[in-house]
Order: sequence, then C-alpha cells, then structure tokens
Amino acid sequence: KSIRTKKHTLDDVTEFKKYKINAALNEDLAKKVSIFKGDITKLEVDAIVNAANSFLRAGGGVDGAIHRGAGPLLQEECNTLGGCPTGDAKITCGYSLPAKYVIHTVGPQDGSPAKLESCYEKCLSFQEEYNLRSIAFPCISTGIYGFPNRLAAHIALRNARKFLEKNKSMERIIFCTFMPIDVEIYETLLQMYFPVP
Ligand code: ADP
Repeated sequence: KSIRTKKHTLDDVTEFKKYKINAALNEDLAKKVSIFKGDITKLEVDAIVNAANSFLRAGGGVDGAIHRGAGPLLQEECNTLGGCPTGDAKITCGYSLPAKYVIHTVGPQDGSPAKLESCYEKCLSFQEEYNLRSIAFPCISTGIYGFPNRLAAHIALRNARKFLEKNKSMERIIFCTFMPIDVEIYETLLQMYFPVP
C-alpha cells in the first residue's frame, strides 16, 4: 500500500539521503512519532515548543497562542531569561497550559537550514535534564519567518529520527501541523523517515 500511495518527489529522496537511517530501528521508532493537526496549546505533553522571537516577547502566530494559553506568568519568566539567539532554545514552565514546560526556540528568518537544524537539536537537548518523555513541535520558522515548508519538515523529521535513534527514554515526538500544506507534507514525509515495517 505504501508504494501505491507514495507522494514524495525526487528532491525528497535527495534530502532524505542526507541522513543514513538505521533501518533496524524502524519498527520501534514508528511507534514514537505522530502528527497532530490543530492547536499545540491543547496538548498535554511534557513539553511544547514555541516558535519564539529573540526577545522572548509574546508575538503573533503560535507564540501568541502559547502566551494566551499559559497566562501572564509565562511572560514574566521569559523576561528573566535575557532573550534567546537564533538557533538556540530556552525552557520555562507551562503555567496554565496542559503542557508542563514550554521550550522557546528562535527559528531563522534568513532561510538558513543549519540554524533551523540547531533549533531542533537544542530543543531536544533538554530531554535529559527535564526528563521529557513527550514533546510537541510546531512548524518552526514556516509562518511569519517564511522558511520553505517542505525543507523545514525534512529538517524536523531528520532531527527527530537522529535523536530517537540514540535516545531511548523519549517516548513520543509529536509534529503539530496547523496549515493544510504542512499536514500534507508531514503525512508524505513521515512515511519516509519513519516507515511502518
Ligand atoms: P515563525 O515566526 O517561526 O515563522 P509562526 O508562529 O508565524 O512562527 O508560525 C509557525 C507555524 O505555527 C505556522 O505553520 C503557523 O501556522 C503555526 N501555528 C500558528 N498558531 C498555531 C497554534 N496555535 N498551534 C500550532 N501551530 C500554530
């Protein structure tokens, strides 16, 4: 069935080959990822990721929704953190959100794949210290910051795969899609990076 419904392109294959997956882990890892369609602030997970700005000041898009859901204490904690450089991440409590923590990462505005990659790495690097078993990512940088959706999804999926291959204690990584274009892209690419055997 997966062969008949294949929707990926030749460019997808080129991008996919940038990371050599350990196929022996396919069965285990396919169970640890999922796509959620809708509002990330509704997710009861250990951490949701915020596509923040470098001032860590409540803005529009997913950032605005997260601050509204968390309440004013989130901004108060953000104010103590001294901002956040592009490609880096900072963690706070989730306050009134169902999520325990919010990881604020600042995506690139210049389309830099390396900086977007760094966002995913830095967010996942909080796993050990905060004992995160579940984390949900929005489509970082693809809104106001204008990063190409498809390449962004490759970067998200590649980094999730890399991380899960090494780290056994993360139980679930959720890709939170909000725009119809991202739903379609993630549904196609998830089958490449996390094939169900
Ligand atoms: P950036 O500035 O990093 O581009 P945006 O917030 O503008 O961040 O957009 C990132 C993605 O988050 C976009 O796909 C946008 O549609 C999506 N988004 C907006 N609101 C929400 C929400 N409540 N939950 C999940 N995703 C959201």
